[in-house]
Amino acid sequence: TGTLYIVPTPIGNLNDITLRALEVLRSVDVIAAEDTRHSGVLLNHFGIESKLWAVHEHNERQKSEAIVQRIQEGQSIALISDAGTPLISDPGYPLVNACRSAGVPVVALPGACAAITALSASGLPTDRFLFCGFLSPKQQARLSALEALQDETATMVFYEAPRRILDTLTAVLDAFGPERQVVIGREITKQFETYLSGTVAEVLEKVAADANQQRGEIVLMIAGAPANDHNIPAEALQLLSLLSAELP
Ligand code: SAM
Repeated sequence: TGTLYIVPTPIGNLNDITLRALEVLRSVDVIAAEDTRHSGVLLNHFGIESKLWAVHEHNERQKSEAIVQRIQEGQSIALISDAGTPLISDPGYPLVNACRSAGVPVVALPGACAAITALSASGLPTDRFLFCGFLSPKQQARLSALEALQDETATMVFYEAPRRILDTLTAVLDAFGPERQVVIGREITKQFETYLSGTVAEVLEKVAADANQQRGEIVLMIAGAPANDHNIPAEALQLLSLLSAELP
């Protein structure tokens, strides 16, 4: 049988493609891409002429069957997304799941991923982190999701659309209070790469004051809650400190 290769592509800087990615993309029978036009430009840049198939959110369940069958017949297929690592807030999960269930070999190449790149540059603890993908675009659902993470002690990593970053930071302030540390990584690997860090209140102020900070691609990271030995919820600790202030 053949192999399904999971191949990361650059998240901005084209030089971040790996030598192995180029080798695999050149050698496979078919490249399954999220958007064939978008990926066509990238592949063209590297002189890769392998056949392209469109496999996206809306057809990947049906396409998965056909791909599994091709691989069982001996073909090799590479899965790429528009940018970064497939399956990470991108299509591919149903396909990899189908391949694994069918006993078809899956080989993933390491490469660009906005979440990992941002986290490693953030200055926040990296020993434990929680990747949360995109928050809901709906205000109430977004706030509830953030509130449910109030006591999370791992560093939290989110993807966010630029047009929502102000609203999201406001929701982060409501859910975590103004003092929680946050970091925003923007336009990573591109010309206008910037990292903003500070308390939620500080970062919110900087982003609100500068329209440029509301453009481009963004990774938002929130520091975890301080770990405490007794596992007392943050709300209870807050209440305790309020009460102790009232004591004689
Ligand atoms: N699979 C991709 C990966 O491995 O990073 C993520 C795909 S997801 C559809 C796109 C989101 O990733 C963007 O909205 C942004 O939050 C984040 N992202 C992608 N490229 C980025 C970059 N160069 N700088 C900052 N964030 C980026």
